[in-house]
Amino acid sequence: MSIAIPKTMKAAVVVPGANATGNIQIKDVPVKSQAELQPGECLLKMICTGVCHTDLHAALSDWPVPPKTPLIGGHEGVGIVVAIGNNTTASPVKVGDRVGVKWLADSCLNCESCRKGLEQNCENGKLSGYTVDGTFSEYVVSYVNHVTPIPEGFDSFEAASILCAGVTVYRAIKHSQTKPGDWIVLPGAGGGLGHLAVQYAKIMGLRPIAIDTGEAKKQLCLKHGAEAWIDFKETSDIVGAVKALTDGKGAHSAVVTTASPSGYTQAVDYLRSGGTLMAVGLPPSAKFEASIFWTVFKAISIIGSAVGNRQDAIEAIDIAARGGVACYYAKKPLSELTHTYEAMHAGTLPGRIVLAFDH
Ligand code: NAD
Ligand code: ZN
Repeated sequence: MSIAIPKTMKAAVVVPGANATGNIQIKDVPVKSQAELQPGECLLKMICTGVCHTDLHAALSDWPVPPKTPLIGGHEGVGIVVAIGNNTTASPVKVGDRVGVKWLADSCLNCESCRKGLEQNCENGKLSGYTVDGTFSEYVVSYVNHVTPIPEGFDSFEAASILCAGVTVYRAIKHSQTKPGDWIVLPGAGGGLGHLAVQYAKIMGLRPIAIDTGEAKKQLCLKHGAEAWIDFKETSDIVGAVKALTDGKGAHSAVVTTASPSGYTQAVDYLRSGGTLMAVGLPPSAKFEASIFWTVFKAISIIGSAVGNRQDAIEAIDIAARGGVACYYAKKPLSELTHTYEAMHAGTLPGRIVLAFDH
């Protein structure tokens, strides 16, 4: 099977930096031909891509390790495999397959991290839309071993944001040291990661307490299974509010998905003894402000979790494909990327924006 590949494509290109989000250029850039693909690489014709807050961090270059420049961002894309590099051996995918691109574009599969299932910590890992160009373009070079097969019948737009937001919160909750019936606090619950965290938590038998702000996010969280809602802009005593909901004892776990450090404030204080603070949101230069005394005295675990491995992706997609969780999204064209970043920065986006490609 061979599919015609054009010589150029439209892509959203940015030179990362403090003012970069206003300078995103949608322009024609070359598409790699089949002959130019390296062994293990595949070319995807993109259908759609979600926009993650990580893409905004990348455009602003506000993390300790800067992205490549110039950059095509994006790491929540679904597309069709249209070519595979020559001399690729034992490819798990073939031309014509519909697959997803996640943050971890590729890993060596042989280092200690990869062997332990921590592929996302591979020393030679490639990151979509960060160290290699990502999904904000009509065609994307990806890697046969790491693309995620999308089950037949599962809508591409529904699938897109499961590939980062979904996988990330699914893994974080799996590792949050909770069991069915436990209370889990979700600061950032109305955002891209958070609204999926509410749903994954619910189907894992947990009792989600959503924290975010505004009526739209409140309705989104309550509709998708949050047992309680706390508006962080309207509630001055968040610790008291969480304790009031949990028999005065506090929650068993908090999975924090805010991009600002404020979401982490007080988390240790509203956890019960033996509780777990799972750090997921990535504010650029913030430090934890937790009481050492209470962390020790209450035997609190503080853990970090980054995206997920291939298996996490397959599991998170499988749950979504069977209707266990559903991404709430608005469909927009690629030209709306700048506006999407503006709304994300302002905190006015419930759920996700998914960009559509019309080839
Ligand atoms: P988003 O902008 O869609 O959602 C963030 C939400 O946090 C917003 O709804 C906002 O209103 C809310 N918020 C802000 N301050 C808050 C507070 N004090 N209390 C409660 N809620 C608050 O962003 P997103 O795409 O969901 O990403 C969130 C963060 O997670 C980003 O920093 C992103 O880079 C990071 N991230 C981490 C991983 C990982 O692997 N650890 C993966 C993907 C994204
Ligand atoms: Zn992401």
